[in-house]
Amino acid sequence: MIVVDHLPIAAIVDLVNEYADPTRHVAGEADGPYPTLESLAPLGADGSDLVAVANDLHAVFADPAHAADRLNALVDRHGLRHRLADHGVLTWMRPESTDRVAAAAVAGLVDVVAEAGPDRLGICDAHRCVDVYVDASHAKTRSYCSPQCHTRARVARWRAAQRRAASAAKHEETP
Ligand SMILES: [Zn+2]
Repeated sequence: MIVVDHLPIAAIVDLVNEYADPTRHVAGEADGPYPTLESLAPLGADGSDLVAVANDLHAVFADPAHAADRLNALVDRHGLRHRLADHGVLTWMRPESTDRVAAAAVAGLVDVVAEAGPDRLGICDAHRCVDVYVDASHAKTRSYCSPQCHTRARVARWRAAQRRAASAAKHEETP
């Protein structure tokens, strides 16, 4: 068994949003190229099936109520285990045969859910976006993956309200 690499949650979110099939399909980018993620470079991600990892983790974000079950299943599938180090810190371990990126991503997300709770995981509410996010807001009120999607949704709501107002005015004009 070897120590699992630490992957920051921002890198895990990037991996899911850039490589998961649902995020790419909904955004109309299914045929586009996959970007190289600098955050994965230290792990030597070349041989990893990043799409498979991203799809597994997207399913966790999409269903926070069952995040624990899904993550436990992923921990089992990748053969991850905890080891208590001499200085009292729990360390994730993996078999050498387990994919390095998959192990780091699963372990990292388990740690986030264990610390913050599964209801911090979410999927963007904006139209044509199912990107994932971790809600770090104090009041747990986040519903968009990015400020861009938040603005886009607000503009869309405003336009819809304008259209409704315009059509209501038109109806009033007709005798
Ligand atoms: Zn979004």
